[in-house]
Amino acid sequence: MDFLPVFLNIKHKPCLVVGGGEVAARKASLLMRAGAQVTVVSPSLSPALAQLVREKNLCHKVAAFSDGDLDGHSLVIAATDDMQVNREVHALAVQRGIPVNVVDCPELCSFILPSIVDRSPIIVAVSSGGASPVLARVLRARLETLIPAAYGRLAALVASFRGQVKQQLNSLPQRRLFWEKILQGPVAEMVFAGRDKAAQEALQTALQGAQDTAVPQGEVYLVGAGPGDPDLLTFRALRLMQQADVVLHDRLVSAEVLDLVRREAERIYVGKQRSVHAVRQEEINQLMVTLAKQGKRVLRLKGGDPFIFGRGGEEIDTLAQEGIPFQVVPGITAANGCAAYAGIPLTHRDYAQACIFVTGNLKDGSMDLNWDALVQPQQTIVVYMGLLGIDILCRELVAHGLPSMMPAALIQQGTTRNQRVLIGTLHSLPEIIKNTEVHAPTLIIIGEVVKLHEKLAWFKPDVTGNV
Ligand code: SAH
Repeated sequence: MDFLPVFLNIKHKPCLVVGGGEVAARKASLLMRAGAQVTVVSPSLSPALAQLVREKNLCHKVAAFSDGDLDGHSLVIAATDDMQVNREVHALAVQRGIPVNVVDCPELCSFILPSIVDRSPIIVAVSSGGASPVLARVLRARLETLIPAAYGRLAALVASFRGQVKQQLNSLPQRRLFWEKILQGPVAEMVFAGRDKAAQEALQTALQGAQDTAVPQGEVYLVGAGPGDPDLLTFRALRLMQQADVVLHDRLVSAEVLDLVRREAERIYVGKQRSVHAVRQEEINQLMVTLAKQGKRVLRLKGGDPFIFGRGGEEIDTLAQEGIPFQVVPGITAANGCAAYAGIPLTHRDYAQACIFVTGNLKDGSMDLNWDALVQPQQTIVVYMGLLGIDILCRELVAHGLPSMMPAALIQQGTTRNQRVLIGTLHSLPEIIKNTEVHAPTLIIIGEVVKLHEKLAWFKPDVTGNV
């Protein structure tokens, strides 16, 4: 993050705009909208600025900029078309420790002005950190269409009830639940429909009702976070992620996905270590129970799909025993995500009529799989957690009848910007893994369909990031 977004209170504060053109006019009127006392210094004024002087409270100093103009000002914007003057304003302001913005010149800015969506008191600010103001404006335009104009009125209604709600509902979870219901329910709809008075009455009634109910019961959302790319989340996953009070996540959940969880939610990392798996799992189950019993909405976020090699079944088993309400949200499992992003269809009329998912996890150094069922013709095999046991896996598949030249693919960090796809055969796979530093999470796809990768690969990220 190059700039920290903050909202500045400049009410009644003297602010200076240097320049007399159209850009200066826009900046001056923006500052005035936020309640500042604005002075423009410029030998001449554009018609728009002249109008602001005439009709609003804008001060005009008819002169070229000089050092003394900065006296007593809390903030300055340089908006002349003379770079020499802009630089001078910048240098002098920096010397005096006054926040300064030089229009269209991010390197001469101690603060930048974002694109804004104004639904006062709700303000949404978008910035590209100076990288592309146009992109920020495009994004702002999209937000404009998403946020109903009446949001400002809704916020004002909420503000007028805040004190009363705080007084009458004294637990924080209770208040949060109350406001979520109000803001996503009929009261909000009434405001959007222009029926502010009815909304106010309905809010009053809802508050009365809320007082009579006890502390809300907690619940657990077992949510599949998909294989990494946040675009692959479901709408329901996103909605529940935005509502959670606490999130339990592990190694497989990408940072980008985690970033979409409600900011205020407590984050608990419950990453698993292979050696202490069994104990940890019980601890996680117990932790969910404890948190839910405290009335919290617990988000158990799991990589891929919770019911595919995710121990989701065990986790909700404990919840069911304890009578804690839960819901399960499916996610895109690694097999689907990796196959799609590697251009390897798992079934194909010419190559595979069936597909089987197995875990390559080692138990006491061996792999407990039904090999005969795996080596069926026209079947794609997808192996999760197969890296450590790759030698055994390839050896056994060949021993049970698959040709050693059967194509196989390794997909590391599938669907993320770091995705790597390596193609080989059952014969060459162990060697590839030894020589090319393949690491988890990696998925293995074995079968004729792998041949299609060469033609169908479409996802070729060329930026590396920390997904
Ligand atoms: N519940 C998860 C699987 C958990 S088991 C799901 O449905 O996807 C963990 C294994 O999943 C890893 O060892 C790896 O084989 C696979 N995996 C998960 N995410 C992956 C990814 N982004 N790329 C490649 N393999 C992945």
